[in-house]
Amino acid sequence: MADFSSETRSLTASSSSSSIPSPTTFPDIHSDVLIVGAGPVGLTLAYQLRRLSLHPAPQTSPTNALPIIVHIVERYPKPAQQMFGRAVTFWPRSMEILDQLGLADDIMQQCVAVRESSAYDKDGKEVFGRGWSFVEQTARDGDTRFGFASVLRQKFVEQIMRGHLQKYGVSVNQVSDNNDGDFDSEEDLGHEFVSMTIDNDVELGDYKIIAKVRVTRKTTTIGIESVGSRTEDKWVRIDGVLRSTTHPKSRSYGAIESPIYGNVLWIPLDHGATRIGFALNEERQKLYKELNEEAYVAEAKLAVAPIEIEYEKVDWASVYSVGQRVAKTFSAHGCVFLAGDSCHTHSSGAGQGMNAGMHDASNLGWKLALVLRGLARPELLETYDAERRPNAERLIKYDEDISVLVSGRLPASWNGDPHEDPNVALGTILQQAKGFNTGLTIGYEASFAIEAERHTNGNLGSVIQYQSTVPAAAIAGYRAPDVKLQRPAMWDEIWLQKLTPNMAVFYILVFVGSTQNYADFTELHRTFTTACTTNTADKGLDSELVLYLTILPEKPPSAFMALGSDPLGEVFYDESGSAHERYGVGAEGGLFVLRPDGWIALRVESLRDPGQVFKRVKQYFNKILV
Ligand SMILES: Cc1cc2nc3c(=O)[nH]c(=O)nc-3n(C[C@H](O)[C@H](O)[C@H](O)COP(=O)(O)OP(=O)(O)OC[C@H]3O[C@@H](n4cnc5c(N)ncnc54)[C@H](O)[C@@H]3O)c2cc1C
Repeated sequence: MADFSSETRSLTASSSSSSIPSPTTFPDIHSDVLIVGAGPVGLTLAYQLRRLSLHPAPQTSPTNALPIIVHIVERYPKPAQQMFGRAVTFWPRSMEILDQLGLADDIMQQCVAVRESSAYDKDGKEVFGRGWSFVEQTARDGDTRFGFASVLRQKFVEQIMRGHLQKYGVSVNQVSDNNDGDFDSEEDLGHEFVSMTIDNDVELGDYKIIAKVRVTRKTTTIGIESVGSRTEDKWVRIDGVLRSTTHPKSRSYGAIESPIYGNVLWIPLDHGATRIGFALNEERQKLYKELNEEAYVAEAKLAVAPIEIEYEKVDWASVYSVGQRVAKTFSAHGCVFLAGDSCHTHSSGAGQGMNAGMHDASNLGWKLALVLRGLARPELLETYDAERRPNAERLIKYDEDISVLVSGRLPASWNGDPHEDPNVALGTILQQAKGFNTGLTIGYEASFAIEAERHTNGNLGSVIQYQSTVPAAAIAGYRAPDVKLQRPAMWDEIWLQKLTPNMAVFYILVFVGSTQNYADFTELHRTFTTACTTNTADKGLDSELVLYLTILPEKPPSAFMALGSDPLGEVFYDESGSAHERYGVGAEGGLFVLRPDGWIALRVESLRDPGQVFKRVKQYFNKILV
C-alpha cells in the first residue's frame, strides 16, 4: 500500500462545512463529527447523523434541521472490507432498532431468518431445550415482529449500510464532493486515524478537536484504557458452502456437543453457506505446522462428528483467541465517544458483538444529533456512557462464562453440580439470559434521559431487578413493546414501531382511559402551546420534536365521536385491548414518553390527575430540550 504518511491530513471537528481541497495535497477537512472506523457501528452512526438532520419527511423533520457534516475514515481499503467472516447474526432487538432507522428491510431481503434450533449430543442424538433453544422460544413468544435470528454476514451488512449512507451524501474516506477527479472517492485507499488534540477551552460545536489521518496500517489508540482478560482458548470459524451433509436440520441454529471441540456452533448463513465454529485445544493445535484452510476443514469434519459434511467451497476461515475487555469510560472530554468493539470486545460465543454495537450506535445517534443541532442540552450526551457501559460490563461478565462453557469446561463462577455437563450448563445459561441475548430486556437505569419508575410505596425502582423477566415490563428504562393497533376509518392493523420511526423525535403515547381526563389533559396541552407562542422560556413540550399518538380502547367511526374533541396528534384504535394489556394500562388510561431510540423515557400509570400528568411530561422535556 502507498504510504502517504508524510501527507498527513488534518480533520477538524467544527460546525462549518467542508473546505475546498487542493488538487495536489491532502486537504484539511472540517466536519461536525469524525467517525473512525467503517464497521457496522461507525456506518450506522454516520448514517443516523445524516438522516436525523437531513430527512425530508415533513411531518417528522424539525423545521430548523441543519445538516450535520460527517466524515468517516477506514484504515483498510474497500477490497479488504469485502472479506467474509466476523459477525453474522442480528438478534430481534437489533432488528427493531434497525427497522426504526429504515435499515432492516434491506437486511431482510438477504438474510436467512432462522426460527428453528437444534442440539445433538456426542452420539448424534437430538437433545431438546439445550444449545440455542431460546431462538425457537423467541419465535413462539411473539413479543416482537422479529422473532428470529436474522443471519447475514457482516460484509453484506456493511454493503447495505454504505449504500444507505451514500444516499445521504457520505462515502467512506471521502475527501471532497467536488468533481475535480483527484480526491472524490478514495475507497480503494485506507485512511487511518493517527492522533488528535483536543482544546478543552473551546465549546462543543466549534473547532474543538484536530485529528490527523494518514494512509498507513499502523495501529493507534485514543488513550482510553480497557480492562479485561485474554484466555488461552482458540476458536475456529469456517464459513463455506457444503456439498453435502447428514445434518438432519441443516438450516437450524445448531449446537453439536463434541467431547473434544466443545459446543460446536452450526449457523445457516446467507447465500447457501454454513458457519461451523469450534474450540481448538492445544493438543489439536500442535498437530498442525500451519493452521490453514486445509487444517480448518479437516478439524471441522471431526468437530461435527457423527454428523458428516463435505465442502463445496470455503469462503472464509479463521482462528482467534478469546478475550474480554471493556473500556473504563465510553466518552471523554464531552466530545469523544467510543462505540462497538472500540470499547467492548469479547468472544463471539453468544453472537453479541455487532448487536451490542447497534445498541451503542442507536443510543448515541439521536443524542448527538439533537445536541449538535442545538435542540437538546449537552448533559444528554453523558447518559450514553451511563446507559451503555453497565450493559457492556454485564455482557462481558456473561461472556466470560459462555466462552468457557462453549470451550467445553465449567466456568470458575459455576456453583452448581461440579460434575454438570458443560453443554447442559450452557443451555441453561443461554435460556436464562434469553432477554439479554435477544436484546429485548436490555434496560437503562433512571437518568437525565429516563425518569425513575415509582413503586406504589413511593420508592424509586431499579430496572436491573427486572432484567431477566421476559417479556420485559413496559416501564421507563425498557423498550417500548411493539403492539398491533388499528388505523382509523380503515380499521386495518399497523404496528406501533412502524408509527414511531427513529427520526430524533419523541413520541407521547396517550392511552385515553376516561374521556373527561383525556379532555382535561388535552386542554392543558393546548393552553400551554398557545401560551408558548408568547412565552419562549418554557417551550420544551411545544416542540416539533414531540409528537403525540392517541390510543382509543374501541373502534369508533371517528375519533371525534368517541372523544368529543379532536385527538392530540394521530389517533389509533386498540379494540381488542391487547396494546393496553401489554402496556399494563387500565381503565384510567396512561401515558408513555418514547425516546427516539424506542426506549420508554417516562411512564405515567394513570391519567386520573391530568394536571399532575401534564406537569411531569412538561418537566421531562424542559430538562432535555433546549
Ligand atoms: C469470528 C467472529 C464472529 C463474530 N460473530 C458475531 C455474531 O455472530 N454476532 C455479533 O453480533 N457479533 C459477532 N462478532 C463480533 C463483531 O464482528 C464485532 O462486534 C463487530 O464487527 C463490531 O463492529 P464495529 O463497527 O464496532 O467494529 P469493526 O467491525 O471492527 O469495525 C471497526 C473498523 O474500524 C477500523 N479502524 C480501526 N482503527 C482505525 C483507525 N485508527 N483508523 C481508521 N480506521 C480504523 C477497522 O479497520 C474496522 O473496519 C464476531 C466477531 C468475530 C471475529
